Amino acid sequence: MKIAVLKEGADGERRVAATPETVKKFIQLGAELAVEAGAGTDASIADQAYRDAGAAVVDRATALAGADIILGVQGPDPASLAGVKPGAWLAAGLNPFGERARVDAYAAAGIEALAMEFMPRITRAQSMDILSSQSNLSGYKAVLDAAGEYGRAFPMMMTAAGTVSAAKVFVMGVGVAGLQAIATARRLGAQVSATDVRSATKEQILSLGAKPIFVENVAGIEGEGSGGYATEMSAEYQAAQAELVSAHIAKQDIVITTALIPGRPAPRLISDAQVATMRAGSVIVDLAVEQGGNVEGAVPGEVVVRHGVKIVGHRNVPSRLAADASALFSRNLFNFLSAFWDKEQGRPVLDEEIGDAVRLTRDGKVVNARLLQ
Ligand code: NAD
Repeated sequence: MKIAVLKEGADGERRVAATPETVKKFIQLGAELAVEAGAGTDASIADQAYRDAGAAVVDRATALAGADIILGVQGPDPASLAGVKPGAWLAAGLNPFGERARVDAYAAAGIEALAMEFMPRITRAQSMDILSSQSNLSGYKAVLDAAGEYGRAFPMMMTAAGTVSAAKVFVMGVGVAGLQAIATARRLGAQVSATDVRSATKEQILSLGAKPIFVENVAGIEGEGSGGYATEMSAEYQAAQAELVSAHIAKQDIVITTALIPGRPAPRLISDAQVATMRAGSVIVDLAVEQGGNVEGAVPGEVVVRHGVKIVGHRNVPSRLAADASALFSRNLFNFLSAFWDKEQGRPVLDEEIGDAVRLTRDGKVVNARLLQ
């Protein structure tokens, strides 16, 4: 059983899909590890650290030759996988809806592509869930990015020269990233409020010491769809939400938006007119900018200024914390593959529930139900 770890090829991607820690653990399971030279450099992991852990550090072609499982953070360019043996697994964040042509190419190459972001949100798969581990770091980093752009302090400070008032932070979308954003902003001493379409989040907001801001008494109010994800809301709800947000947002210094709907463009939560009501020097961080954006005017990869308000649209926020993001991503991959390790066969054998959820391609075809709908 040979496992190949690739150097990421996407622009700005600094993470790596295995660390010396997970390399050692795979070797203990009986696997042979081949790491592409330089794979960990941007995540502060030297080639020598992989060698010390027992991996061979080699060029890409040597890593891929005879590999049974290929690990990546993002899906590699299919053209760079020439020579991979048919039936090899590719386990990575494959962005199946956004990179459909690549999925087809993996199928054509006979690769069994496993999309880690399709891991079901069930208790036993929590330790395998890249969306959670990476979103958690994004939520944290979003607050630090906001603090970095903000020309004022977060906590209230009473000094001999006078008092600095606490920043008001509003978090929109209270999933994994939003919860961490609330917690981080609170730790920095901000006054925090938050909203979501799922009413179950109210308790969570309160438990973190923040104030829930919710639309009440409107038809179609329960925004919880299958698997705990949000659904698209009724027109009546959206109008009520826009009104509530308008009143609230004008009083905020920092807004962090994280709202996503699986398989759909991100919902638009803040219009340009609403941005204009915020005071100059305020900061908005749009974590959904790569999925279409929650904020009108947000630009992927840029910090733009609209009406004196900075709108931060960093791409690939987890990659901005490459060392920790790689450590958690790598553990997710190890937890996934080791949970299904069949000692007799010396390789993982997936069960139906998780296998069918994550498997995109097999035997030359696209087989995933979410892609065939
Ligand atoms: P997500 O990234 O899909 O979306 C972020 C948040 O945006 C969600 O809370 C969503 O409700 C919210 N949102 C969507 N549209 C909105 C709108 N118009 N206005 C305001 N908010 C809006 O969410 P996520 O972080 O992936 O979490 C989704 C669910 O999965 C949650 O219920 C979470 O608790 C659950 N979860 C379960 C597990 C597990 O059991 N393994 C792991 C992680 C998350």
